[in-house]
Amino acid sequence: MKPASFKYFYPKDLAEVFSLLEKYGSRARLLAGGQSLVPLMNFRLSRPDFLVDLNGISELSFIRNKSSNIEIGAMTRARAIEGDHLIGLHVPMLRIATTQIAHLPIRSRGTIGGSLANADPAAEYPAVALALNMDLVVQSVGGERRIAAKDFFLDSLTTALAPNELLTKIIVPKIPKRSGFSFIEIARRRGDFAIAGVATQLTLSGKNVKTVSLALFGVGPVPTRLVAAERVILRDGINDKAIQAAATVVEDEIDPIGDLHATAEYRRRLAGVICKRALKQAVSNARNA
Ligand SMILES: Cc1cc2nc3c(=O)[nH]c(=O)nc-3n(C[C@H](O)[C@H](O)[C@H](O)COP(=O)(O)OP(=O)(O)OC[C@H]3O[C@@H](n4cnc5c(N)ncnc54)[C@H](O)[C@@H]3O)c2cc1C
Repeated sequence: MKPASFKYFYPKDLAEVFSLLEKYGSRARLLAGGQSLVPLMNFRLSRPDFLVDLNGISELSFIRNKSSNIEIGAMTRARAIEGDHLIGLHVPMLRIATTQIAHLPIRSRGTIGGSLANADPAAEYPAVALALNMDLVVQSVGGERRIAAKDFFLDSLTTALAPNELLTKIIVPKIPKRSGFSFIEIARRRGDFAIAGVATQLTLSGKNVKTVSLALFGVGPVPTRLVAAERVILRDGINDKAIQAAATVVEDEIDPIGDLHATAEYRRRLAGVICKRALKQAVSNARNA
């Protein structure tokens, strides 16, 4: 299949991008790695009149070390994130999750900004953004705003981005001391989108759990923080009984979708099982940190 015809722009700076978005609004689409958008255009599920290619904007591609955060430019390729030592050191979950995205050629083109803006319910980056409380910085001619990941993903393939806005950078908190994480996904084949997956990170304080986040993906229209299960762990601590109780709460609190890949009931059971595994891994990781 070939895409419907469109007018192509290759802006050289952000000012040009903003003015194109202002002029064409929802009739324009931004092109990042093209790994989601181009297939959609080829199937004519997306038919933009104007395509604004971001690949000439070098200032959107960076990984910067700040005191308590790592800042990542929206056009940073998954492959760059996977191999970056700062990410490996300060945001290890992001590195591990990246290795599970598709295959090498796709990771070599696909960008973190493209994946977050695309908001596929089974994608890895939105779940990691939610689990790690990332902030997404978006810009338009009107200025800049910072959106917490929990407020960014509104529905399947739908975000809080306005048609004239560009996601420019992602602010990723560094992993605190005495923390552990786990990233587990179940797919039929390595590199496939997840049937269900979970991203978790927890921080210990003495023998207690100071913070815990559990973000489930592939199970509903958007990645979801499992707040009730997190509360069980914060209340009861991290022992086998509490982990089992949290997993039971997960199975009760979610409303999974059923599709060609798995029934809703299968996803419900899977969610409980992977949450249990993830919490065990994360705590053992934190104890050895
Ligand atoms: C065979 C195959 C398997 C895949 N498997 C997986 C997988 O397992 N897990 C996974 O997560 N992904 C998977 N993907 C998708 C891949 O990771 C994409 O790269 C990613 O979803 C989109 O990133 P991109 O840079 O290619 O964005 P594009 O495809 O260029 O854009 C995606 C959308 O985001 C918008 N956009 C892009 N950048 C910005 C920005 N800075 N600001 C605002 N809007 C923006 C575009 O307008 C478009 O609507 C797979 C893709 C293929 C082809």
